[in-house]
Order: sequence, then structure tokens, then C-alpha cells
Amino acid sequence: MDIAAFQKDLVRWYEEHRRDLPWRKTRNPYHIWVSEVMLQQTRVDTVIGYYHRFLEAFPDIRTLAAADLQEVLKRWEGLGYYSRARHLHAAAGQLADTPEKKVPDAPARFKQLPGVGDYINAAVQSIAFDHPLPVVDGNVKRVLSRLFMMTFPVNQAGGHKEFATAAESLLDRRSPGRFNQAVMELGALACKPARPACRICPVTRFCRAFRENRTADFPRRLAGKKVPHHHLAAGAVWKKNTLLIVLRPPEGLLGGLWEFPGGRLKPGETSEAACRRSVREAVGLTVLVGPRLVRIRHAYTHFKITLDLYWCDFEAGRVRRRGPAAHRWIRPAVLEQYPFHRAVHKCLPALYEAAWPVKGPG
Ligand code: SF4
Repeated sequence: MDIAAFQKDLVRWYEEHRRDLPWRKTRNPYHIWVSEVMLQQTRVDTVIGYYHRFLEAFPDIRTLAAADLQEVLKRWEGLGYYSRARHLHAAAGQLADTPEKKVPDAPARFKQLPGVGDYINAAVQSIAFDHPLPVVDGNVKRVLSRLFMMTFPVNQAGGHKEFATAAESLLDRRSPGRFNQAVMELGALACKPARPACRICPVTRFCRAFRENRTADFPRRLAGKKVPHHHLAAGAVWKKNTLLIVLRPPEGLLGGLWEFPGGRLKPGETSEAACRRSVREAVGLTVLVGPRLVRIRHAYTHFKITLDLYWCDFEAGRVRRRGPAAHRWIRPAVLEQYPFHRAVHKCLPALYEAAWPVKGPG
């Protein structure tokens, strides 16, 4: 392949057709970092609003470092993959302790920060500082698979090196940030997962899969495993017009977010019985389980859930937590001040309707 011609055609197309995105109008390394963290696993359309609101609240590393984690999670609420926000906050804390209080212009140092893996390191260091590091994300792997008809499955663990070597062979070292963005943009706008839009692609003449009319055969993937499904029950527990919420432990799935106490159904157990039992196990309270307020379904990366939320009245006991990191009895009017994960948000309209059939909590 004539690499120089490939780079030229791709970059020229990028300059003409790239989307007008807010993080492309800045060279501020912190802003670029925030955008790249948000864009991992999340669609561009969704990220734009979050990006503006996050930077309005935390315009620089110092502000982010000084903020309470709960405040940061509240700004991240609904974006998912909350470990990203926790890591960003922790990394800002570490940088705020350095004399420069800036994103280091040094890939080896930047990579030591929490949450900074190969992708974030390459993206931020190339876009903000023009370090010649190739980015390899899902879009890039798909483009490379087709360009070179790579048979390595894109979802196989340990495949990163194969794709990184291919990406490195194409990288424009004079302007690596622009080139990396151009490859990712090609994956997003032309070389799409299901049906690549080859008619608008600027690099068809370099693409093996296109030449051999085999674009549908790439990228290769390992057959997906069946995603496990869990059935959970939780209680909206009321005591004298206050509602009990519990905080998930800081590390792990949905760490640092609030929810209603509950847990998984045991084999043969009814949802109501599971609600009563799991509330007792999680917070040590005996509750009277009332009507089911809502049943929601939600999908995470590696499993799916069905969650039943019940109206519960406090009967007896004092809160003794086994699992949650904290709890609060709150007035419903302040419910939305706390960061909740998406499954809880799906339940809230039904809770509002049951508690405030006419007006809602406000
Ligand atoms: Fe992708 Fe088609 Fe372009 Fe090849 S020609 S890189 S398959 S869009």
C-alpha cells in the first residue's frame, strides 16, 4: 500500500466532511481528555450535552479535583459506566497534587493515572500534544479489518497488539492527532458496522475487502456468549413520609450511586418474598410489602436484569447495613439531588405517580 497516498486521501476527506463537534474546537488537553473518556462506550449525540454540562461545572483540573465525588457522579448520571467518572475524578486529584496541575505532555506519565489505558493515552496525547501514538478503538479495528482483511476477531481478548501494529503502520507521524481522528471518523461515517458506505469512502482504492467484494465478511467476531439474566426485587421503603435510599460501595459496578435496597430472587422465591428478605438482609429492617409499582428491564454490558420495585412500609428495626456503604432517609422532594443509576431512573415515574398521583414530587 502507498501509505503516504492513503494518509493524504483520508485526511483530505476528514477536513472536508468531519462533524462539527465541540471537542474538535479546542486544544485544551483536559477538555479533550473529558470528551474521550465520555466517548468510550457512548454515542456522540449523547455525549455532547454531558460534555458541556460537565465542563461548565468542572472547567479545569483543580475544580474537578476539589469537587465531591457525589457531585461528579450527579453530572455523569445517565451516561453509564460510572467507573469512568470515578477514575477521572481520582486522576484529577492526583494531578492537582503536582506542581503543574496540568495534563502531562508525556504519554508514559499520563498512562499512570487511574482510568488511562492504551486508548485514552493515545487519543489524548496525540490530539492534544501530537505524540505519535495510534488509537485503537472499535471503529478503528473495524476499518483495519476491512482494509487489510484481518482475520483476527475484533472481540477476542489479546487481539489489541495485532490491531495496534496495523494502526501504527498507517499512522501519519507529522500530524498524528488529526490522522487518528480521521480514521475514527471514517469508521463512524463511512465504514459502519452493518453496511459500510463504500461509495462515500475516500480510501476504497486501498481497501482489500472492497476490492475483493468481501466487506460483509469483515470484521471477524467470535460468537457471543449468552448474556445472563437476573431477576431482582427492591423496596421503596417509607417511614413517616421519608424514603430509604442506599449507597452502593465505591468500587465495583455502579459504585458510588444510590438505589433502593433489594437483591436477587432465589430459585422458587416470589418477587414479593425476595423484596421482603433482601431488604432485611441489606439494611436489617422488617417491612410490609405493598403493591408492585413497576417492573423494568435493563441491559448492562455483561448481563440483563428485570427489576420489580415494591411500595414498602416500614414495620420494625433499625438500619444495620450489610452491603450498602451508606443510607439516608430522605424527603422525596430532594430525591433528584442524589445520583442514581439508570435502572432506578426507569422506576422513578411509577414511584412519583403512586406517591403524588396528581402533582409529582415538586
Ligand atoms: Fe470501509 Fe468500504 Fe472504505 Fe473499505 S471501502 S474502508 S469497507 S468504507
